[in-house]
Amino acid sequence: MHSVADAQSPDAVARNVQTVLDNIRQAALRAGRRPESVRLIAATKTVSPDRVRSAIEAGVRILGENRLQEALPKITAVGDCEGVAWHFIGRLQRRKVKAVVGRFQMIHSVDSLDLAVEINRRAAEAGLVQAVLMEVNVGEEATKGGVVPTAVAEAVATIKDLPNLSLQGLMAVPPLSTDPEAARPYFRRLRELALSLPYEGMKELSMGMSQDYAVAVEEGATMVRVGTAIFGARRG
Ligand SMILES: *Cc1c(COP(=O)(O)O)cnc(C)c1O
Repeated sequence: MHSVADAQSPDAVARNVQTVLDNIRQAALRAGRRPESVRLIAATKTVSPDRVRSAIEAGVRILGENRLQEALPKITAVGDCEGVAWHFIGRLQRRKVKAVVGRFQMIHSVDSLDLAVEINRRAAEAGLVQAVLMEVNVGEEATKGGVVPTAVAEAVATIKDLPNLSLQGLMAVPPLSTDPEAARPYFRRLRELALSLPYEGMKELSMGMSQDYAVAVEEGATMVRVGTAIFGARRG
């Protein structure tokens, strides 16, 4: 679907951003959705600050980082950009929570109640309310983190009671496959799960990556997390 060109030059990054935004738009229209209801998150792990800036200049407004120790210097290096937000999308260890809370507009990867409780505690200390998503292990894979689908309703009920967390939806990374269509049933399952919850304000669905974001948009994604299709293959 995409040429994952080297994308080292600002021009290549800009072209890739336009292609991805275009594909999102077309997938939304195919599904009878408003294109503006889907936000692109550029996944910037291993990407240099310069190339992150190229993506911002090309229209990206949300950046997703996986590792705190990589993200903090990058956020400083990229500097303040009007209207640009950073999201935390990677696995978050408890001992890193203090440094993440308040620095990222949203944490996508709340994969256990334990972690939610810790984020709530640190957010209370900092005097803020942290926006989060619950990560669902939608493929019920033994090697993956996340709340299993059958436990989501109860976990959501508990998290909804934590005063310094604002739970805004669900996030998932389906089982790896080379076929984008293989992810479709998992995306659909995540959306159905979200719809089955008796809560308002749980409208965000963070799902879809470089190879399957168009399918995710067709299935209701409100945020897609795209790295390779914008910046090219990651080294190392
Ligand atoms: C790296 C990453 C992405 C983007 O992956 P690509 O296949 O490069 O688009 C999305 N979500 C998470 C959680 C990631 O770690």
